[in-house]
Amino acid sequence: MPPANMPPRLEVRSLMRRFDGRAVVDDISFAIPQGQVTCLLGPSGCGKSTTLRMIAGVDMQDSGEIFVNGALICDTVFRVPPERREIGLMFQDFALFPHLSVAQNVAFGLSGSSADKAARVGDLLERVHMARHRDSYPHALSGGEQQRVALARALAPRPRILLMDEPFSGLDERLRDDIRDETLALLKDEGTAVLLVTHEPHEAMRMADEILLMRAGKIVQRGAPYNLYNAPVDRRAAAFFSDIN
Ligand code: ADP
Ligand code: MG
Repeated sequence: MPPANMPPRLEVRSLMRRFDGRAVVDDISFAIPQGQVTCLLGPSGCGKSTTLRMIAGVDMQDSGEIFVNGALICDTVFRVPPERREIGLMFQDFALFPHLSVAQNVAFGLSGSSADKAARVGDLLERVHMARHRDSYPHALSGGEQQRVALARALAPRPRILLMDEPFSGLDERLRDDIRDETLALLKDEGTAVLLVTHEPHEAMRMADEILLMRAGKIVQRGAPYNLYNAPVDRRAAAFFSDIN
């Protein structure tokens, strides 16, 4: 745990986004300390990706504030551009660059000396078990291998926060738990604060330190996974968690 006087890595206050007059994200507030994995969990269409896009800076809220390390990065009049937020992204459809090798993909966002870059790339590729594929191109990799490279690429510049939107949903069911466990181990090792969006309770239970249960734009319950599982806020939440295998 970080010291109590440290500001959270990421904090959002009263975030609100309307489309066509309808509040899709409706007064959401939460904070993520350094090194914590928080899962935004809820059914399709409840506003998870919209929340992530505002934090990434590719969509703009109608009201509310976003802070990183206690510093304001976005409100309705002030806005740090996405590329200066030091926020990493890993989206299901955020593909690797097809014309770059695995090692070049991971090195893409890195600055510094070429020796430092090569060391960071080599270390990350070892840790995602992709070192022997360093000179391969994305088309030659399986979906799981591509996701491993995408994780290495997202973490390479040591982002302060990593936003992950359904990162495992394109993968074969049999692979998913292994990749989830490996991903979590690497995230904990790096100490990255993570906001992971998922519609799968099983995934949130397996990966989250804290779950934010979202429904129709609002957070209806929050807490440690076992709290939500053992004491769901209402019958709908209970039914949602009862599918866990
Ligand atoms: P989730 O990621 O939880 O599945 P989204 O955040 O993608 O949900 O979408 C929440 C709601 O907002 C959905 O009803 C969606 O149709 C609507 N929505 C998302 N983006 C837009 C947009 N650019 N214009 C209009 N409606 C949108
Ligand atoms: Mg979504």
